[in-house]
Amino acid sequence: MEIVVIGGGISGLSTAYAIEQEALARGDKASVRVFEADGRLGGKIDTRTIDGFVIEGGVNGWLDSKPATDELTRALGIYDERLVSNDAARRRFILRRGRLQEVPTGPGAFLKSGLLSPTGKLRLALEPWARKRPDADESLADFARRRLGPEALEALLDPMVSGIFAGDPERMSLKSCFPRIFEIEAAYGGLIRGMIKIQKERAALRKKTGSAKEVSAAGPGGKLISFAPGTSRLIESLRARLRVPPVIGAKAASVVRAGAGYKIRFADGQAVDAEKVVLATPAYAASQILRELDAEIAHELAGIPYAAVSVVALAWRRADMPHPLDGFGFVVPFAEGEEILGTLWDSSVFANRAPEGQVLLRSMVGGFRRGALALRGDDEIISSVVAVTKKLTGVEAVPRLAKVIRHERAIPQYVLGHGDRLARIDARLARHDGLLLTGNAYHGVGLNDCTANAKRIATAVFEAAAGRGSA
Ligand SMILES: Cc1cc2nc3c(=O)[nH]c(=O)nc-3n(C[C@H](O)[C@H](O)[C@H](O)COP(=O)(O)OP(=O)(O)OC[C@H]3O[C@@H](n4cnc5c(N)ncnc54)[C@H](O)[C@@H]3O)c2cc1C
Repeated sequence: MEIVVIGGGISGLSTAYAIEQEALARGDKASVRVFEADGRLGGKIDTRTIDGFVIEGGVNGWLDSKPATDELTRALGIYDERLVSNDAARRRFILRRGRLQEVPTGPGAFLKSGLLSPTGKLRLALEPWARKRPDADESLADFARRRLGPEALEALLDPMVSGIFAGDPERMSLKSCFPRIFEIEAAYGGLIRGMIKIQKERAALRKKTGSAKEVSAAGPGGKLISFAPGTSRLIESLRARLRVPPVIGAKAASVVRAGAGYKIRFADGQAVDAEKVVLATPAYAASQILRELDAEIAHELAGIPYAAVSVVALAWRRADMPHPLDGFGFVVPFAEGEEILGTLWDSSVFANRAPEGQVLLRSMVGGFRRGALALRGDDEIISSVVAVTKKLTGVEAVPRLAKVIRHERAIPQYVLGHGDRLARIDARLARHDGLLLTGNAYHGVGLNDCTANAKRIATAVFEAAAGRGSA
């Protein structure tokens, strides 16, 4: 069986690898080929080493609270090479009323913290008595106002949404963005009630099995993981392990029916045939590719919006930086009116990100609400980020390195109606046997979601094939 994967980001590469492994396990001689438009593999995973600094142009790492990516590193034989973030990185900050305030980790610290006013804290404590949720898809902002209060929305949820999605809580769907929180509310009738019950269930499980792994927490939790040479190590390892080397510089232009399978045409005029096609590109690219085959799917895919984000890496001599940078970094609520979404103190998170005696900070600029900020010229972006950094850290020196990595369409936005859109796409896809979609535009934006999807797609490739009797 000939299988083509279009897109050589983590979704495409991990899917190709999962298909190869599945084929091996089934004794199937399936051949998988990956085609990537860009001149390099990795997509949003893009580590650059400049003057001894390890700079992530996109993805910083993954959390070990979900198993998929860790399992992939095990399968690839690079689990022991993983670099676990420093313990200091557990401290996270939120910019609130112009000051960096530590995110409290327990109820006691939360009561003492200045993130919310006494009224805001009281409102949050009333969460168990919140109104019932509406039947319609609810926005993150409406959910937060209903359960936690307007202040918690502004100070806590809004910056969290910026940090993960670079998104706008007023437009994003709770159910699609945070399905676990949606489920906890449904199952336990509230978040605080849910958390208490889950803690109890975990304790009981721990007592019974000696492990708490089977029950996952609702929050992001876990430790951030990468590699000493950067996240691109994962891409390099996948590339080396695939039996057929991925083809780069091969931009797919269309996928059309050809007999029982498909013909994939490329922008340079070349074409290949395959029985199965996995589209692992961003949704807007998949939309272009499928225009001819199915205008309705193409239309739905084009409706998934993306936020623009620029990553701004700045470095100083440690001696010139008055702030201790003692944590992961900080996120910025929209209401603070700053021109950044947040900053990661990279050299505090992973020690080797900067040479001895230097510090590396990476700020995110833009997002769904202020995409135009990400699309300004490099000099303008750099001077605005330097100005914010000076204000918050007290640094006066000129940075010794400044680099902008721009993503015009960085992160897909799961806006209201996203779930219904996916259902319509799935219904249409059922007409196209052997055509599969994956990537971070559908069921989770993180690396762990992409690597978890890879296994599901690999199974689906063979199950559909068996159904048609051609495997
Ligand atoms: C700035 C930034 C930081 C992030 N940080 C994190 C993080 O720390 N942790 C985390 O879990 N997630 C993070 N993410 C989310 C992360 O991007 C995803 O988890 C993951 O990298 C997406 O992988 P993907 O393969 O689905 O998509 P992509 O990485 O976008 O890959 C898609 C690939 O398809 C290719 N392609 C497009 N069109 C065609 C075509 N016509 N023909 C062939 N190939 C094509 C593209 O060139 C690209 O290589 C971050 C995202 C951004 C933008």
